[in-house]
Amino acid sequence: SDIIIDVAHLNFYYGNSQALFDLNLTFPRRQVTALIGPSGCGKSTFLRCLNRMNDLVDVARMEGSIRLDGTEINSGELDVIELRRRVGMVFQKSNPFPKSIYENVIYGLRIAGINDKHVLDETVERSLRGAALWDEVKDRLHESALGMSGGQMQRLCIARAIAVNPEVILMDEPCSALDPKSTARVEDLIKELRDQFTIIIVTHNMQQAARVSDYTAFLFEGLLIEFDKTSKLFVKP
Ligand code: ADP
Ligand code: ADP
Repeated sequence: SDIIIDVAHLNFYYGNSQALFDLNLTFPRRQVTALIGPSGCGKSTFLRCLNRMNDLVDVARMEGSIRLDGTEINSGELDVIELRRRVGMVFQKSNPFPKSIYENVIYGLRIAGINDKHVLDETVERSLRGAALWDEVKDRLHESALGMSGGQMQRLCIARAIAVNPEVILMDEPCSALDPKSTARVEDLIKELRDQFTIIIVTHNMQQAARVSDYTAFLFEGLLIEFDKTSKLFVKP
């Protein structure tokens, strides 16, 4: 089907405070969907529902259904480790570990118990190429990732996300800590990755949504106000 994620009647609460109200939307496969809206409208909360990161919050409670290719993600059919392999996440601030660039890329494979050097080497090259970073770092794969620039670190986190071959990549304001030049590189990369992955990107930057996304969802105070093709919602300059 052309739909990869189907969200139906999603309500989300932090204790007694409701953060999301009866959200209904579907995400088209191998497209970029931007989630936009003012600070506090529930963008991060919604993103964290999609890979069950909210499970970490004690007072969190979710109602409704989120299906990933037909499988309810909040059921026994899909454990959380498998879910997070299929739905990767790139955070607002890149967070490389104090380890080599190489080890940062293959972090998810190590967790999965994959230690075959040939497989790891291939994955590192494929993922760094996919994240448009290979040429810059191929001669220093075994140096610490902490010596990279901010823009490189953000692309490293994208490489780490794609290393495990996810179906969906969630990005929570991936450019908010980057300078304009690095932002442009990451935006170009997002457009390229669409051929292989379904991307859901949270941004508070409307111009960015217009530049990178195929679909746009507007949230306001926990409600879905609009969801449509980006070309219908924005008049491109
Ligand atoms: P956005 O990402 O759009 O800025 P959030 O999803 O972070 O919005 O927040 C939505 C609402 O939920 C806000 O009112 C925020 O204060 C509240 N909220 C977010 N995280 C928590 C939390 N861990 N505990 C309690 N309330 C939270
Ligand atoms: P952002 O708006 O960039 O998502 P915030 O600075 O609002 O981030 O929140 C930082 C962290 O604090 C997040 O993990 C969020 O879940 C949590 N948080 C936000 N609002 C609240 C709240 N009202 N109560 C408790 N935790 C919150």
